[in-house]
Amino acid sequence: MNENCLFCKIIGGSIPSSKVYEDEYVYAFRDINPQAPVHVLVVPKAHIASAAEINTDNSVYVAKCFEAITKIAASEGLGSGYRVITNCGEDGGQSVMHLHFHLIGGVKLGEKII
Ligand code: AMP
Ligand code: ZN
Repeated sequence: MNENCLFCKIIGGSIPSSKVYEDEYVYAFRDINPQAPVHVLVVPKAHIASAAEINTDNSVYVAKCFEAITKIAASEGLGSGYRVITNCGEDGGQSVMHLHFHLIGGVKLGEKII
């Protein structure tokens, strides 16, 4: 945990959040500025700064995030599809330096980059 990190504080409970899911490895909560009817942030409980910091020692957290995404997508009623996004670094538009996956859905999504 990083005491200066917003998402570590949310995981620790010192900053409130709208929790959607939690297990030993993962915490998930609703984005404060939703971009779609469902917009959940799925974060590892370990402080990994970004996708650029994933390695052999911590990649289990990434796998667990995606296992959680499958469960959350089902519980949020996203059976017809959804999008998962991670922004990485300055050029990638990352604003919170704790790895997170945006789970977005609940509407037919437009505008694709790839
Ligand atoms: P990113 O720009 O990819 O780093 O995404 C950071 C996300 O965190 C943005 O979508 C913000 O709306 C969201 N966010 C920032 N602060 C909070 C908060 N206190 N609770 C929930 N979501 C937040
Ligand atoms: Zn953190």
